[in-house]
Amino acid sequence: MTSADCLFCKIVAGEIPATLVAETADTVAFRDINAQAPTHVLVIPREHHRDIAAMAAADPCLTGRLAADAAAVAAQDGLTGFRLVFNTGAEVGQSVFHVHGHVLGGREFRWPPG
Ligand code: 5GP
Ligand code: ZN
Repeated sequence: MTSADCLFCKIVAGEIPATLVAETADTVAFRDINAQAPTHVLVIPREHHRDIAAMAAADPCLTGRLAADAAAVAAQDGLTGFRLVFNTGAEVGQSVFHVHGHVLGGREFRWPPG
């Protein structure tokens, strides 16, 4: 399942360049083009799903593997703590509608988020 107009499907296909930091059979991880922290990596499934809710409903196992791959990316960057964020819906800031986990770390974070 891919979406012809999807930016992140194009990154998976290698049609748009990205700074890859990890790849598995199911997921691709690359640095965010507009980093908000020393580590800001996006972890995405190769398969196109609109958001985390759609992916979790369609394929819970893939969702679990993506979480594990996000943790591996954080460890690879030397992080002991990290934030894993899935913006879900335009009203909370989702701008790319191919599910992606933001792995953020390397600085202090506040709670609640803005
Ligand atoms: P969202 O707002 O959907 O949660 O996050 C989308 C993220 O994708 C943003 O943090 C944005 O900086 C990042 N982004 C958008 N276009 C590109 C791109 O072409 N390459 C990379 N590496 N990141 C991108
Ligand atoms: Zn896509």
